[in-house]
Amino acid sequence: MADINKLAQMFKELDDQLVNCMKCGMCQAVCPVFAESGRETDVTRGKLALLEGLANEMLEDPEGVNEKLNRCLLCGTCQANCPSGVSVMDIFLKARAIMTGYFGLSPIKRTIFRGMLKNPKLFNTLTGMGAKFQGVFTKKVDDMLGSSCARFNAPVIRDRHFNTLATKPLHKIVPELDTPAGKSGIKVAFYVGCVIDKIYPQVGEAILKVLKHHGVGVFMPSGQACCGIPALSSGDTDTFDTLIGINMDRLRSGEFDYLVTGCATCTATIKELWPRMYGGDAALKYDLEQLEKKTLDISQFLVDILKIESKEIKGGRGVTYHDPCHLKNSLGVTAQPRTLVKAAGCDFTEMAEAGTCCGCGGSFNIAHYDMSKKIGSRKADNIMASGVQTAATSCPACMLQITDMLSQKNAKMDVKHVIELYAESL
Ligand code: SF4
Ligand code: SF4
Ligand code: SF4
Repeated sequence: MADINKLAQMFKELDDQLVNCMKCGMCQAVCPVFAESGRETDVTRGKLALLEGLANEMLEDPEGVNEKLNRCLLCGTCQANCPSGVSVMDIFLKARAIMTGYFGLSPIKRTIFRGMLKNPKLFNTLTGMGAKFQGVFTKKVDDMLGSSCARFNAPVIRDRHFNTLATKPLHKIVPELDTPAGKSGIKVAFYVGCVIDKIYPQVGEAILKVLKHHGVGVFMPSGQACCGIPALSSGDTDTFDTLIGINMDRLRSGEFDYLVTGCATCTATIKELWPRMYGGDAALKYDLEQLEKKTLDISQFLVDILKIESKEIKGGRGVTYHDPCHLKNSLGVTAQPRTLVKAAGCDFTEMAEAGTCCGCGGSFNIAHYDMSKKIGSRKADNIMASGVQTAATSCPACMLQITDMLSQKNAKMDVKHVIELYAESL
């Protein structure tokens, strides 16, 4: 159980933030989980009502509270559309931290977060071993999407189609980098993130190719750890704080003008959650606030800082774009990735509901796969209806979910990160 004073403080902060909710229900119309389930407890207003009596509910029905709180993608659509400016994400994350602080982590989460994520070397070793032996348990399904499925009946994997672990992760291809600013006069730090490193290293290589092409110096320190969002969304603030400490230690060993990532979730976590949710010492908190101002998604950096412009080309590769929630809702970044697709000479088509969540939501996909699949299936239908060859996005987690949905529908198209399209055009 967490320190009782820390828990009491979190309860107070939660109460202070909850008073802003007017119970207007505007969030209901935009919640992707509610759109599929129609259950009031799935929508923000229902969850906030539950949290108002959290202390009582926790004692009476802890399992029920956990189940209701976790039926949420943390997509931030409700927050982005709330007329009262309720900090819904902070509230949900604090409520999860209270639950975990009181009841503890499950043994499996404890092993993953505290045993593995807190130790980046061990994490790399274990995923490296997984990459070697995964062929025993998986078989290829779709060459265009690069997807596989389970060879045998596996309860956790079920009927998922997925991109497997890369045989050579980015940290093996480029262990570290420290190059001076070139013709742009700018140097960036590149925060890789675990999904790009271990599943989509080609996205990381594309980022490095583009930065080199534009004469941007790169500081990419070795030993980077996960940004911590999987731990924070499970209420494990202790692991979250430790991971921030590891990453800041690595980042402070070099100099740079901006920090860029190719993962929408990492960017939003570093910009919004590191400074707001970090619970450690004040000096590091100050550094996190400074880092926030320098952190950009790679498309923001290329379009807003380097001034890359779109080209109007017809007849190029047909591409549509899915907005990751953590870029659109959290950071308001929607135009820059589209500009990059057009700068790559692609023939862009806007799909219906491009800004609606793909249904991944990290651990939501694992705990509520049926719901995740319903939301994702709608996304795949919209992508396919746009009649393009390629579904592009800016988040590796969205790439995983969209690949699964398109592969299960035998869509005969591919999924790319926008930076891959731009790098291919250089
Ligand atoms: S969270 Fe915002 S949109 Fe939802 S009920 Fe409360 S005030 Fe209304
Ligand atoms: S974060 Fe997304 S899934 Fe969760 S309540 Fe808000 S809109 Fe619904
Ligand atoms: S947000 Fe996801 S992809 Fe980014 S570092 Fe964390 S776990 Fe990895």
